[in-house]
Parts: sequence; structure tokens; C-alpha cells
Amino acid sequence: MCERVFVSIPSAEPRASILHADLDSFYASVAQRDDPALRGRPVAVGGGGVILAASYEAKRAGISTPMPGHRARALCPGLVIVRPDFPTYTAASRAVFAIFRETTPLVQGVSVDEAFLDVGGLGRIDGSPVDIAARLRRRVAHEVGLPITVGVARTPFLAKTASQAAKPDGLLEVPPDGERAFLHPLPLRRLWGVGEATAGRLGSFGLETVGDLAALPEDVLVGLLGRAGGRHLYAVVHGRTSTTLSLGHRRSSIGAQRALGRGPHRPEHVHAALLGLVDRVTRRLREAEQLAGTVVLRLRFDDYTAVTRSHSLAHPTASTARLADTAVSLLRQARPLVRARGITLVGVALGGLVADRVEQPELSFAEVAAGGGAGRAGGGAARVRDTRELDAAVDALGHRYGGHALTRASLLRDRDALAGPSLDEAVEG
Ligand SMILES: [Mg+2]
Repeated sequence: MCERVFVSIPSAEPRASILHADLDSFYASVAQRDDPALRGRPVAVGGGGVILAASYEAKRAGISTPMPGHRARALCPGLVIVRPDFPTYTAASRAVFAIFRETTPLVQGVSVDEAFLDVGGLGRIDGSPVDIAARLRRRVAHEVGLPITVGVARTPFLAKTASQAAKPDGLLEVPPDGERAFLHPLPLRRLWGVGEATAGRLGSFGLETVGDLAALPEDVLVGLLGRAGGRHLYAVVHGRTSTTLSLGHRRSSIGAQRALGRGPHRPEHVHAALLGLVDRVTRRLREAEQLAGTVVLRLRFDDYTAVTRSHSLAHPTASTARLADTAVSLLRQARPLVRARGITLVGVALGGLVADRVEQPELSFAEVAAGGGAGRAGGGAARVRDTRELDAAVDALGHRYGGHALTRASLLRDRDALAGPSLDEAVEG
């Protein structure tokens, strides 16, 4: 492979040349693409009794994700629920990312269905960023058959906020001299990284829109949200977020697997082996200063057949507890297969990797909302902070005493799970 070097030349003139491209209701749109009878109808993709994705027709009926299937049916009696088809999603994701990379070499994947593209410097040949965005949308529609929304702005943060405002099937440019007019009327909830807890806390002080916050001095925001959260939000509401993408060569997934030998294996044994693997890959994830957006479970059976099951998270994370929850629920969904075919190997891979700093603001918001001292701490946010501290403590022990210094109580109870060969793998992408 030939090495290409891209030099970015800072220009005196600020330009809106960052694109945020995001497929609309990805899984549900694939279902509607592949079955014309579903087009224009409320469609949800569900597995294990949970709604994973909903078409815009379903979202208009109040369906959100994740939501229990029975609740979704009650809200929307005409709802069509289809089974997920992960191989088809993977193929569609690859095709869309190929178009991204043909558009510009500077692509930062955020998850399976969204990415930032830096199209600065392409102007002379390819037209303006808005022209490039419009062409990208047409190509994805014609070649992959899926609707995609694109936001165009000077910073990744603004481009993401623009695409969220333009959904579905939209294109929105926020020119540098239009940033205030775009941002200030937005409700705080619409800002990327501002969760319900933070928006609720600010709302209790009568602060509802970005403009309300922009009118305040920085030290007032720091007083309300703590140092990290206040400073970050101050920068956000004044449009002062980073103008560059996080690029560079990174692994596309981090995985580990363990052979269990011929069974039968008790479910607790498989469960414990899986948790041991999750501990290992999440430690490596945090060492690489990355967050994972997708958890992939791999199982191999007595008859040498294999299956993979995957789940994409709403927000990338490095939390062992969250990633373990996801892996365990994938295993639970696969239980009928495990029972029928006899499991011989379990593996877990973390994909959709992004640099940790991309999501850092959200975590600091959660933390400040939890520790704000106003007695309105959200339990969920407090847990986020606790698991980060726990994860950091476990990692520190691992560094000091080696990877096996600390192990889960469930693994000690089931020492079988530690026996048998294991294999770490790293897929380079
Ligand atoms: Mg999307």
C-alpha cells in the first residue's frame, strides 16, 4: 500500500468544510429498502423483545429506541416489527464508508452509520463543501439505496449538530457567519453531548436554549456545572470547539476469544468466560484511549459452525460494566442456539472504535450533573462516574501486577472458565 501524506494548510478565512454524514434510521431504512411493501409504513427492527431501530413513520408515533416491543405495539398498533439482519447492515455500512473514502481521504468514523469528513482543500476540483455534500447524498441514495443526512460546518461539533437538526434525508450548512443564528435558538437538549440530566439541571435555572447560556459569563457556567463541564459548554455555545478530525491509524477492532472444549458447558461457565474476555478487551480498549461503539459476540459450536451477534450502542463507551451488559445480553439472545448446538468457543470483539476525547464532554456532563451538589443527582450518571473510577483502579492494578492480578469473583467461583487455551486477536484495519 502506498503511503500518502496529507498536509492541512491553515487558512486565515474560517470555512465550513467539515461534513457530518449520518444514515437515517439505518436498520429500519435497510428493511424498507429491501421490502417495498414496508415503505411509508411504521417499521421497527426488533430482537429479543427490544426495539433496536425505528423508521421515521414509527418515530412520529412516539417510538424510540431502545423500547420494549410490547410498548411499541401499544403506542403504534400498525407497527411492523422485523428481525435484525446484521450481515446486510455490515454490507451497507461498508458500501457507504467506501463512498465516504472516495469523497475524501480524511474520514473519521463515529459508528457503523455515521462519520465526519474533512473536505477542506477539495474545492478547486470538487466544488464547494455543500456541492460535495449534495453529491455524497445522491451517491448513497443511488448506489446503496439509503437516505443520509449531512451537516456542513466549520467544526465537527457544529456539523453534527447541523445534521441532527436536518434529519431525516436533509442537508444543512451552517456558514461561519451564521453560527450564532443557528445555535442560539436551539434547545439545550439538541446539543451533542448534553444529556437529559444536564439539560434538566440548567432548565431548573430557567436556562432553556443555547442563547440563554451564551449570555452568561464563563464563571457562572463553571459555578453551575463544575470546572470541566462549565468550560466545555462555554466553548460549545460560542462555537469554540476543535476544528479538526481525530484521524490516524487505529485498529478497527479489539477482540479476544477462548476455546471451551467439548461440552456440555453450564450456562454460568460460558457467562463467566465471556466476562473474563470482556475484562481483557476493555482494558486494552482503555490503554489505546479509545471508546467502542459496537460489541460483537462470536460463538463456535460442536459442528464447527459459527455465528456472530452484534449490537451497536447509542453512545461509544469504555466502561467495562456497560460493554459487559451488552455482551451478556447478546449471549442471552443466542441461548437457544447454544443449547441446540453445543458451544465450543466464545469470543468478543469491540468495534466502532473512536478516540476517547470525542465523547469526553458527555461523560464530564454526566459527572457534573451527578456531583453538582444540588441534590438532584441522577443515579445513572453517578454510576457512570463510579464505573470509570472502578475501571481505572482495575487497570492500574493490572499494570502493576500483570493482567491477571485482579479477576472477577464470578471467575473464581467457576475456575473451569479460566482453564483452556485463549487467544487474543487484533484485527488491523
Ligand atoms: Mg444514524
